[in-house]
Amino acid sequence: MSSEMVIVYHRQPYEEVEENGKIVLRENKSPNGIVPTLKGFFGKVNHGAWIAWKLADDPDNPDFERRIEIDDDYGSYSVSRLALSEDQVREFYHVTSKEAFWPILHGFKERYNYDPVDWANFQSVNRRFAQAAAEEAAEGALVWVHDYNLWLVPGYLREMRPDVRIAFFHHTPFPSSDIFNLLPWRREIIASLLACDDVGFHIPRYAANFVSVASSLFDVEVIERKQVPEKWISDGAALTERTWPNAIRCDDHDVAVSVTPVGVDIGYIDDIARSEETAVQTKRIKEETDEVKLILSVGRTDYTKGGIEQLASFERILEFNPELRGKVRLMHVSVAANRNMAAYEEIQTEMEQIVGRVNGRFGTLEWQPVTFISRAIPFTRLVSYYQSADVAWITPLADGMNLVAKEFIASRIDGGGVLVLSEFAGAAVELADAIITNPFSYRAMDLTILSALELPELEARQRMKGLRKAVQETDVRGWMPGTLKMRSDENSESAA
Ligand code: UDP
Repeated sequence: MSSEMVIVYHRQPYEEVEENGKIVLRENKSPNGIVPTLKGFFGKVNHGAWIAWKLADDPDNPDFERRIEIDDDYGSYSVSRLALSEDQVREFYHVTSKEAFWPILHGFKERYNYDPVDWANFQSVNRRFAQAAAEEAAEGALVWVHDYNLWLVPGYLREMRPDVRIAFFHHTPFPSSDIFNLLPWRREIIASLLACDDVGFHIPRYAANFVSVASSLFDVEVIERKQVPEKWISDGAALTERTWPNAIRCDDHDVAVSVTPVGVDIGYIDDIARSEETAVQTKRIKEETDEVKLILSVGRTDYTKGGIEQLASFERILEFNPELRGKVRLMHVSVAANRNMAAYEEIQTEMEQIVGRVNGRFGTLEWQPVTFISRAIPFTRLVSYYQSADVAWITPLADGMNLVAKEFIASRIDGGGVLVLSEFAGAAVELADAIITNPFSYRAMDLTILSALELPELEARQRMKGLRKAVQETDVRGWMPGTLKMRSDENSESAA
């Protein structure tokens, strides 16, 4: 019980790799920057703790190393690893989180799969996370819980440790009550979230939805509303809100509802973008794609990411605009899920079929319209692709934030490149200078990609300037719910 800050995040804060028969811990920068960001907070306290799970053949094996101490560039912190069996992981993560919660959070009612959920297992895994956090937290510590697969942790933790401050951050969208309340466990989940001091979201709409869900289930009073920054309001944009309820009262307890859009690590990306190695790679890619306009799409294979809709749009624009044949190329990176889930496999197969058909219909010996990549590209290389693309085409059907869009912008130190972005990505709220599109509309998808390809250079540069300014405003290094500044920050502020 000695850590002033406890991060509860289901993945471990590093990769474990085998080297010469020994397991070593390796920094995990990719595929997204959130882990190093969170570890960065340990530098502000004397001692931190991280709670995660780790696969165990036998969770009861006494030799399983349940807790390790780390002292590295980030600070001094312990990592508690909850031993979960393969079955527990499958039920907690792949079934309950991915088949029941994920579709609901993203508004895909028809994909929601309730029957296979083992709720007792979900409760018990969440209780173990809460227990481990309770053991590590110092008196009055800040415990920061991340994402929907740990929804029940705040409720359990509050019972165990009334003294700690609890924050919860959703990395996904949060739907309206029409959709959220399909979950039969809705009251239990919301009751747990209401035990927090601060519930955080990327954008005002998700925060507003959360409060409307909470009000539909409990006697919740809005005690303060906050004005959304003017620059985030654009008429007609799908995710725009004008205000959001940023403080609510339930029984005698107040909960802050904060909006802190996560950003990217600009310094880190800028260093890569300006490196000699990147310059060489970017030059090579540009030479290879010299004759054509390169459209780049990067995401995971997931129905929320809209890969099928995008490939279908590309097929249509080649069909109806023959002058584009031989003049554009789509590099579609869609990292395949390494879980054997039927839904993901079906999408993968369907995307491969469209790619095969487009390349078969329109390709020539000299020109292949689509390059489809299912394996993750290392981040440093991705930066070269971001720099080489004429257009980044990012069109999820629903997405909590979408860091790829921000990484593309942060990589464009040349001030060039055009971003076409779905209005259903959280990032669209901040990135009004993108060409905003609606991936549910054939017409909108086809027209926006065509106008992006033809965008005058001057306008493209002006838009990129605005986008780079917006991305700089939410550097991930400054990311944290405002109401939960750490005591060390408060002290240094009051001293200043
Ligand atoms: N990414 C990567 N290599 C790839 C594809 C993606 O490193 O081949 C990274 C990308 O740089 C980004 C992350 O994966 O940091 C995806 O984050 P995003 O918020 O866009 O989507 P998520 O996968 O979290 O829904």
